[in-house]
Amino acid sequence: MSILAFIEQRNGQVRPVSREVLGEATRLAEKLGGPVVGVCVAASDPGLAGLGEAGATRVLLAKHEAFAQYDAAGYARAVVAAVEAVKPAVLLFGATAIGKDLAPRVAARLGVGLANDCTALSAEGGKLIATRPVFAGKANLKLAFPRIPAIASLRPRAFAAVTRNGSAAAVEPLAFAYDAQASRARVTRLAASAGGKADLTESEVIVSGGRGLKGPENFKVIEELAEALGATVGASRAVVDAGWRPHSDQVGQTGKTVSPKLYVAVGISGAIQHLAGMSSSRCIVAINKDPEAPIFKVADYGLVGDLFEVVPALTKAVKELNEKSG
Ligand SMILES: Cc1cc2nc3c(=O)[nH]c(=O)nc-3n(C[C@H](O)[C@H](O)[C@H](O)COP(=O)(O)OP(=O)(O)OC[C@H]3O[C@@H](n4cnc5c(N)ncnc54)[C@H](O)[C@@H]3O)c2cc1C
Repeated sequence: MSILAFIEQRNGQVRPVSREVLGEATRLAEKLGGPVVGVCVAASDPGLAGLGEAGATRVLLAKHEAFAQYDAAGYARAVVAAVEAVKPAVLLFGATAIGKDLAPRVAARLGVGLANDCTALSAEGGKLIATRPVFAGKANLKLAFPRIPAIASLRPRAFAAVTRNGSAAAVEPLAFAYDAQASRARVTRLAASAGGKADLTESEVIVSGGRGLKGPENFKVIEELAEALGATVGASRAVVDAGWRPHSDQVGQTGKTVSPKLYVAVGISGAIQHLAGMSSSRCIVAINKDPEAPIFKVADYGLVGDLFEVVPALTKAVKELNEKSG
């Protein structure tokens, strides 16, 4: 039986998380058997043949001009049509804003279970087992699926992509019925966030600031370090609630869940709701003047000190290193 991977595109570009989803589908296929098939819903082909290198043997393309923007009902119909055509054992999504909206719709239409925002997948006895953090990241839940397809959405940056040199995926049109009436409530325009900055969930490096910054004007210190590191700026809820940063910057239980290679938490105490959004980061650096701050319990490296001294010194050191390495 095959493994079906939802290939997410935005503005005609395949999103990086789709390669991670294909990577995990490829690893699962080695244990569960069957080919890895992609399904993409788009207004035009965003270069799907190239996904052969990411592990797809073929990709079904559900094409319609209305799919220039996300269309929940239309996308769900198309993905269900792909499930009916492929009859996969497993269907995987990226746990992005679109993936988290679409996966439950598809699961409901198919009458099967869904594990959202998974951080690990495994195969036991020929069946999928999904692991997802619960209780704001305090525990991990392992889920089995009584029916197929087992559906899971994968936390962006928690799974590695694969590279299959030289192979191209076969791109095939997917037959499905577009229902304009069902799709009458759809996204018509996406506004880019200020400064066109990278999506936090896809960033390799994040520098987040908290209430320790004392005021919005001091986020300059965070922005300068972020620029030197090539990072995206994040924030705690305290500063978002105070109106210092937009909600799109918020990391945590009621904000974004991120898994960058490096997460630098500056002037953030490390409340459980903040940790829920960043504790799966690969390396965590905490800068806080309180040695008892809970953030140090999850940090790989901790710096106890006044951020207004420590961060500019760190930025200077990173800039010098950047200059030396050209
Ligand atoms: C239902 C619910 C959902 C929530 N969701 C989220 C969420 O999604 N994300 C989130 O972040 N929070 C969330 N919260 C809020 C959370 O509980 C905390 O209140 C919040 O994370 C605190 O933000 P903070 O760490 O910036 O502020 P504080 O807790 O006030 O911490 C500020 C830190 O800065 C340090 N500091 C101060 N001055 C300096 C200095 N000069 N140098 C160095 N360090 C300094 C202090 O020692 C302190 O540790 C949620 C709460 C609830 C109830």
